[in-house]
This record gives sequence, structure tokens and C-alpha cells, in this order.
Amino acid sequence: MKTLQRTLTIIKPDAVRKNAIGDIIEQLEKNDFRILALKMLEISKHQAEQFYAVHAGRPFFRTLTDFMSSGPIVALALEKENAIADLRKLMGATNPASAEEGTIRKKWATNIEHNAIHGSDAEDTARFELSFFFAGYELAE
Ligand code: ATP
Ligand code: MG
Repeated sequence: MKTLQRTLTIIKPDAVRKNAIGDIIEQLEKNDFRILALKMLEISKHQAEQFYAVHAGRPFFRTLTDFMSSGPIVALALEKENAIADLRKLMGATNPASAEEGTIRKKWATNIEHNAIHGSDAEDTARFELSFFFAGYELAE
């Protein structure tokens, strides 16, 4: 059974610095993701720590949150059937060295940390992450 899902993606600071915003949004639209809302913003170190709280304690937590607060990002709320898994597939593996041809990370990621794009990994994290960046009225139909 196909179900319409929402997910949150972030074009990370490395991809914004590479002028890849347009290319990544084009790939999202070509793959039938509907953009419900989008915004470009910078987050603080503290906000990055809150967003990635599940990774607190991991060895890369400090550099990851430094990176995510190092410059502008673009957050998008997306909708599609099977959006969460389909977005992860289009993103490619976390480490671009393992990312498949045709994925966003294969094209734009520099390394395992500076990997161009974030995508929610489950329905509960998608709900948390969407509400982190967007107010209810911004996602209303
Ligand atoms: P994201 O959550 O950003 O969509 P992901 O789900 O593919 O990526 P996670 O395991 O959730 O990967 O890790 C979150 C982020 O932390 C990665 O996207 C990457 O930027 C960074 N990261 C993960 N593993 C490492 C590592 N071994 N070394 C450095 N940074 C890492
Ligand atoms: Mg993740």
C-alpha cells in the first residue's frame, strides 16, 4: 500500500557554498517530491546540537554541529508517496565513497561529514525535524 509521507531535507552548508541549491532542488522535483515549504537560514551551534541530539556522544558530534552551524542551509518540507525511504535513496550513502551513481551525495558530497544533504530517517524523526524548522501553519494544506 502506498502512503503519502512528509519528510525534512536540509541542503547542508557545503552544498550551499558550492552553489548546488538549484541542482539539488531540481533533482528533488524531478523525482516527484512536492515542496510544501522551504527556507534558507543559519542555525546556531546550540540549535545544531538540538537538531542532532540523537548523535550526542558520538565522536563526530562536535565537528558535525560546528559544520552545520558554519553557514547558510536550506530546509525543505517535502511530500511524496514513500517520501522518507525515497529521499534516502536519492541522497545516497552517508559516505560519498560508497554512494551510488546518480545520487545527490555522489555528485555533491566532499566526504562522510561534509555530505551535502540531510534527510529524515523515520516517521518519528521526520515529525520532529519538520516541526524543528517549520511552524504548523507553514505546513498546512
Ligand atoms: P543525515 O542524518 O545528515 O541525513 P545520515 O542519516 O546519512 O545523514 P547519520 O548516521 O545520521 O547519517 O549521521 C549524521 C551526519 O553526521 C552525517 O550525515 C554526517 O554529516 C555526519 N557523520 C556521520 N558519520 C560520521 C563519521 N563517521 N565521521 C564524521 N561525520 C559523520
Ligand atoms: Mg541521519
